[in-house]
Amino acid sequence: MPFSILAETFEKIERVTSRTQMLLYLVELFKKTPPDVVDKVVYFLQGKLWPDWKGLPELGVGEKLLIKAAAIALHVSEQELEALAKRVGDIGRAIEIIKEEKAKKGAAAPGLLAFIKKPASGSTLTVEKVYETLAKIALAQGEGSREIKLKLLAGLLAEASPKEAKYIARFVEGRLRLGVGDATIMEALAVVYAGSAAMRSIVERAYNLRADLGMIAKILATQGIEALKNIKPEVGIPIRPMLAERLNDPVEILKKLGGRALVEYKYDGERAQIHKKGNKIWIFSRRLENITHMYPDVVQMARTGIKAEEAIVEGEIVAIDPETGELRPFQVLMRRRRKHDVHIAMEEIPVAVYLFDTVYVDGEDLTLRPLPYRHERLEKIIAATDRWQLAKGITTSSPEELERFFLEAIENGAEGVMAKAVHEKSIYQAGARGWLWIKYKRDYKSEMTDTVDLVVIGAFYGKGRRGGKYGALLMAAYDPDTDTFKSVCKVGSGFTDEDLERLNDMLKPYIMDRKPPRVDSQMKPDVWVRPALVAEIIGAELTLSPIHTCCYGWVKPGAGISIRFPRFVRWRPDKAPEDATTTKELYEMYLRQLRKIQEEKEAAEYRRRV
Ligand code: ATP
Repeated sequence: MPFSILAETFEKIERVTSRTQMLLYLVELFKKTPPDVVDKVVYFLQGKLWPDWKGLPELGVGEKLLIKAAAIALHVSEQELEALAKRVGDIGRAIEIIKEEKAKKGAAAPGLLAFIKKPASGSTLTVEKVYETLAKIALAQGEGSREIKLKLLAGLLAEASPKEAKYIARFVEGRLRLGVGDATIMEALAVVYAGSAAMRSIVERAYNLRADLGMIAKILATQGIEALKNIKPEVGIPIRPMLAERLNDPVEILKKLGGRALVEYKYDGERAQIHKKGNKIWIFSRRLENITHMYPDVVQMARTGIKAEEAIVEGEIVAIDPETGELRPFQVLMRRRRKHDVHIAMEEIPVAVYLFDTVYVDGEDLTLRPLPYRHERLEKIIAATDRWQLAKGITTSSPEELERFFLEAIENGAEGVMAKAVHEKSIYQAGARGWLWIKYKRDYKSEMTDTVDLVVIGAFYGKGRRGGKYGALLMAAYDPDTDTFKSVCKVGSGFTDEDLERLNDMLKPYIMDRKPPRVDSQMKPDVWVRPALVAEIIGAELTLSPIHTCCYGWVKPGAGISIRFPRFVRWRPDKAPEDATTTKELYEMYLRQLRKIQEEKEAAEYRRRV
């Protein structure tokens, strides 16, 4: 497949302002894609060479090396290229300009060149060749690898047309900012290979069970939609996690779950999806990163603690006090990430694992089985110790008992409880947030003491002491129905000086010169930011806003939902933008707040009268 087709699509997508248009371009692209190349095309669209969880090396080409390679390919000096890149603000664009100029001169010059027949794009690169060369660049490691990377990249850039070279450079730099969401890719795949957008749900389920969109696309394109319907989880490939809705009233919780529930401690740690195949163990995070290397102690526990040949189990890794065995907060666990020597970290910050689910045991796909069945399987394959055990839980149909257990959980260092449906339909909903699991956390008890996770979509320049830096961020909630990010608030407080110092570098890779296609905002920030970074935000209360687009018109015509006095709490690097609080969740929080205010008003009224 000519790489020029991909480069042209990149260019079109970069300019689109609506998701519908983006979808059309993707459909056009997949129609031109041979089935055996579709995986590579999907990875390119995702801006990566392979899924992150594979733990394979990244390209490892810094700005310097890219400039050096491009200078060799273009027969210009590094200084010349660097100066132009500075002027146009982008190395990729600078390479394109130089190549275009050279091509013009070349075309004008009579002689040999005029007789060589070249395709319209001026290049013969294929998607396969570009992918394979980039993979070789990434996989070149150790001594002499810099030279190998340089040679391969220079060769690639020399062969490419101006436009292709621009996108290869941007890809290498990690700056291919297309903003195409997985949901949009899946919809386009469904249209092209299954004949209808309605088939997206089947593609989605397959992707939820095996989080490798390239692989899923290839199965779909080569074997058809039926093959996707039969897909099972596979050990070593992460499954996208099931997520919970939230409520703060035990009566409502039980009602939602059908009157009876398994109520477990909600541990405040890191979610871990643990895969075992013989002696081999993988640990994947909530965002499906391979975090096996960070937890050699958990690897050991899993090896001896799972009594099955093959299994996928889920649990929470929690920091504990080695003296007392008491649970410690999430922040303590996060210190592990910062330590360089994992073995020292292991000594200083010991952990325990509390297991709560299993989706696969020895060939049996458990995702469509009800929770009690899965739980029984889990219990059977776990050899428990102090540090490796099932999550503490009770099964109850009494709101009073649920409340008591909740208070006990809090007292013992948990965040609250997770209440889970136990009826026949209580399947494992991979990749979905649904009402089969409900979280009940302490902070729901008062107004907006519960934080929300919002996505950065823009930034404002600071004033006064913050002059010359960014001083505030425009934040958005995620709307899964339209796959867009809708603005909620502008947040400027709660940042430490250090946070503000870091903002510039953090935002840099995501800055865009126009509104990102999946962003819906009437407020215009000084700079637009592609949805990528998630932050935890707290405020005084939820309020109606005429400006913000989150839940626009849902409560009242002409108004959206916003947060009054918002404050930054911390970054959530463990969350993808699509994991942010949804517009629907904010709407429900707003309704709960309204109800509470109403109840308080009624109580005050009653007291006045009696
Ligand atoms: P939060 O921001 O509140 O941690 P989240 O958005 O990361 O939530 P949710 O689905 O809303 O994810 O909450 C479930 C999370 O709670 C799980 O991802 C898991 O990490 C954690 N957890 C702790 N104990 C349990 C348990 N017993 N069962 C399920 N999840 C648990």
